[in-house]
Amino acid sequence: MRVRFWGVRGSTPTPQKENMGYGGNTSCIEVRTESNEILIFDGGTGIRLLGKQLEQEFDGRPIRAHIFFSHFHLDHIQGVPFFRPLYDARNHFTFYFAGRSDANLVMDALAGMMANPYFPVDMSRLPCSRDYVDLAEGTFRVADTKILVLPLNHPQGCFGYRIMQNNKVITYCTDVEHGVEWSDANVKELAKNADFFIVDSQYTPEELPDHAGWGHSSWKQAIETGISVGAKQIALYHHDPYHEDPVVEGILQNARKCHPNVIAAREGLEVTI
Ligand SMILES: [Zn+2]
Ligand SMILES: [Zn+2]
Repeated sequence: MRVRFWGVRGSTPTPQKENMGYGGNTSCIEVRTESNEILIFDGGTGIRLLGKQLEQEFDGRPIRAHIFFSHFHLDHIQGVPFFRPLYDARNHFTFYFAGRSDANLVMDALAGMMANPYFPVDMSRLPCSRDYVDLAEGTFRVADTKILVLPLNHPQGCFGYRIMQNNKVITYCTDVEHGVEWSDANVKELAKNADFFIVDSQYTPEELPDHAGWGHSSWKQAIETGISVGAKQIALYHHDPYHEDPVVEGILQNARKCHPNVIAAREGLEVTI
């Protein structure tokens, strides 16, 4: 599998020159499976550039992709209305969320964001064809992968994903605050022996006490969890909007003292698992 980071910033886009090394777009990653199925996790502002790249790659051929949401805070959905492949009738998308299997959560949340007066195009008028899938927590099959989805401790809730294919595991665990037993256990289950553990590392340990209840982790908690479950490579993710490049660089150096195989997620970075 391959992972590409399209947005790595938490909370809000930060298009300022001090952040251009790691990037200012909000949460969005793309996973390509062995058979080149496209799985997208979160639709932060990074998804706009992914849309442009897909248009170039497919060059008029139909695009099909599966789009999963961790939750519906703005930094995870804000780019969806600007994902240009939605405006092409040849394309098909399936949107997933795991809150409740008997509700229209994913459709309602996306349609609500694009409703009058927030956006000029009503979601129901998008030309592409699409499905909305509301999942319960647990394991399910998508394309040629198996995916485990479990809830995480975050204000208004969030879900983490474990993507499994041919004995390889990618874990996407953003927007989670450590320190609550059931959630800590879920993070560990999602990340157990993961080949690539993408994890919320918004704060430094020093910043954490002032942000209790905000729903995020420190890089140290992220690394300790990764070590405890035998994660092979860890990607620090969801960088704080006030952490300019030198701060992220400093966090990365400290993290590497604790685990030999850590990276800080950066826009455009591609990792083969
Ligand atoms: Zn977020
Ligand atoms: Zn959030």
